Amino acid sequence: MSKRYIGRFAPSPSGPLHFGSLVTALGSYLQAKSKHGKWLVRIEDIDPPREVKGASSLILKTLEALNLYWDDHVLYQSACSERYRATLNQLLQNQQAYYCNCTRQRIQLLPNGFYDGFCRQQHLTLKDDQPYAIRLKQNHPIFEFTDKILGLQKIAAINANEDFIIHRKDGLFAYNLVVVLDDHQQGITEIVRGADLLPVTGKQISLYQLFGFNVLSYCHLPLVLDNNGNKLSKQNHAKAIELSNIQSITAQALQFLGQPLPRDWQDATQQQLLDWAISHWNLALIPKQNKPLSTDIR
Ligand code: GLU
Repeated sequence: MSKRYIGRFAPSPSGPLHFGSLVTALGSYLQAKSKHGKWLVRIEDIDPPREVKGASSLILKTLEALNLYWDDHVLYQSACSERYRATLNQLLQNQQAYYCNCTRQRIQLLPNGFYDGFCRQQHLTLKDDQPYAIRLKQNHPIFEFTDKILGLQKIAAINANEDFIIHRKDGLFAYNLVVVLDDHQQGITEIVRGADLLPVTGKQISLYQLFGFNVLSYCHLPLVLDNNGNKLSKQNHAKAIELSNIQSITAQALQFLGQPLPRDWQDATQQQLLDWAISHWNLALIPKQNKPLSTDIR
C-alpha cells in the first residue's frame, strides 16, 4: 500500500500573508486534499531578526479566514533547537561538517559567490571569542532532480558541490538543514512551494541522502511578480491580503495557478469554492513561468 500523502505549508513569519504566499498555501493545500492527504502548517521562526512581531498568529488567522484548515498541530521551529543541535553535533563528531570563519567579503569574491571549501583543510576548533559558521562537507552532491511541474532540473557543479552552511555565524540554524529535519520529522511525502526555492532543492536532497531519509517529490509553483518583475515578497513589502472578499482573492489565486473556476463562483461560499477546486485540481495546468498577477477574473 502506498503511504498516505502528507503535504505542508511552511511560512516564515517575516510579515503577513500576501498574494504570493496565498498562492503557495492554496497550491499545497489543494494538492494534498485532492490526494485525500493531510496538510500541515509549520512556522519557520528560526530567524528572530527577520521575524515581525505578531506575524505568525496573523498568518494562521488569515489561513483560517480562508477556510484553509490544517491537520494536526502547528510545528514551530523555534521550539525544536535541541533536536537540531543534536544533529549538528552528530555531523561534527562524524567529521561530516566543519567550522568555517571565512568572511563574507572573501566569499563574495569567489566565482558566483559559491564557497570553495577553504576551511575544510583548516581543521578549526571552536574558540569562544570568535564567530564560526558550520558547513556541511558535501560528499553527496546532487546534479539533477525531477520536479513534477517543471520537469528535469539540472544543477551546476559549482552549486551542487558547495559545502553549504548548516549553522550560521550569528548562531542561528540554517534553513537548508532544519527544513530537511522537519519535513522528515513531520512525515512529509511531497513538497509544494514557490519556485524561488529551486536553487537550494539539490542541497536539501543531498541531506536526505546523507541522513538516509526517503527522498520526497517536489512541485515548485510559479512566483507572483510585482510591477517591476520582482517576486512579491514580505521583504519587498508586498501588501497583506485583504479579507473583505475571500472568494474573489481565492478565485484570483486559482486563476493564477491555471485552474478552472466554476461559472457561478461569485455565488459560491468559500467552502463550496474550495471543494470545487479540490475536485478539479490539475497539476498539469499550472503554468511553468513566473508571472504578474492579472486582475481580470473570468
Ligand atoms: N519558510 C520558507 C519561506 O517562507 C519556505 C520553506 C519551504 O517551503 O521549504 O519562504
